[in-house]
Amino acid sequence: MKIWIDGELVDETDAKISVFDHGLLYGDGVFEGIRVYNGRIFELKAHIRRLYESAKAIRLDIPMSREELIKAVEKTADANAVSDGYIRLIITRGVGTLGINPLVCHDGRSIIIADNIQLYPEELYERGIKVISATTVRNHPLAVPPQIKSLNYLNNILAKLEALDNNVPEAVMYNHEGYVAEATADNVFIVKNSCIYTPPVQAGALEGITRGVVIKLAEEENLRVVEKNLTRFDLYTCDEFFLTGTAAEVISVVEIDGRAIGDGKPGPITKMLRKKFFKYAHGKKS
Ligand code: PMP
Repeated sequence: MKIWIDGELVDETDAKISVFDHGLLYGDGVFEGIRVYNGRIFELKAHIRRLYESAKAIRLDIPMSREELIKAVEKTADANAVSDGYIRLIITRGVGTLGINPLVCHDGRSIIIADNIQLYPEELYERGIKVISATTVRNHPLAVPPQIKSLNYLNNILAKLEALDNNVPEAVMYNHEGYVAEATADNVFIVKNSCIYTPPVQAGALEGITRGVVIKLAEEENLRVVEKNLTRFDLYTCDEFFLTGTAAEVISVVEIDGRAIGDGKPGPITKMLRKKFFKYAHGKKS
C-alpha cells in the first residue's frame, strides 16, 4: 500500500511520523474519513470544507490549498487502485516538545491513507442494530466543540466501550442538557408519524456529510425533515430509528435500551432511504 505523506507517495513501511508529533502526544490534529464508490470519491469537496473548518477552529494551518489537497487525495486513491474503499485524511500539529504548547510545533504532517472499509455485515443492515444510551455525555460545546473532527475521539471512544460492554455495536450520546447529540461515529435520525427528525448540530453532533445527503434525498421524496432537540423519550417512542455515517451509510436501529422500535424490524422510510442513498452514492461524481 502507498501512503501519501507531505506530497510524497511512500511504501506503508516507510510512512512514519515522529514520536514528538502532537497528533500522537495530544490528539492535536484533525481528520476526515471519505468513501470511494465505483472509483469516484464521494462528496470530496464537502469533506475538504469540513477539514479546513475543523483546522481553523483549532488554529491549525493546512500547508496547501484545497485544490492541492483534492489532487493529493485523488492521486492516493489512484496509486492504490481503490475503486470501492475508504480514504483517511489526517493533518497533525507536527513536532513539538513534551509540553502541550502548540505554538512551538513545526512540520505538521499531511497524511492520506486509501484502504478498504470494514462495513457492518449485510445481515445487520437487513435486521437492524440494537443500541444503548451511553452514560458518557457528549463534549460540552465550550470544551472541544463537537463540530470539530479532531484526532481526539476519547469522548466517543468511552461511549463506544459502553456499547461494546453491552454487546451492541453503537451507543447514543446525549449532551449536557440531556438532549440527543449523536451516536459514537454516526448521526441520529428518527421517524414519527411519517416526519423525520434529527438533532440540530448545535445539540453536540458532527455535521455529518451523510446526514446532509440523506436530508436532501428525503426532501426529494417530499418527506418533511425537522431539526429539533430530541429526548430519550422521543427515541423510545418513535416509529423508526436510523443512523447515518460515511462507514455505516444508512443503518436501521431496531432496539434501544431494551425497547423495540416500532415492530422491531427496519421501517419502510429507513429502507427506502438506504436504497436511495446506495443509488446516489454509486452513481454520483464528487
Ligand atoms: N458523528 C461522528 C462523531 C463521526 O465520527 C462521524 C463520522 N463517522 C459522523 C457523525 C458521521 O459523519 P459523516 O457522515 O460525515 O461520516
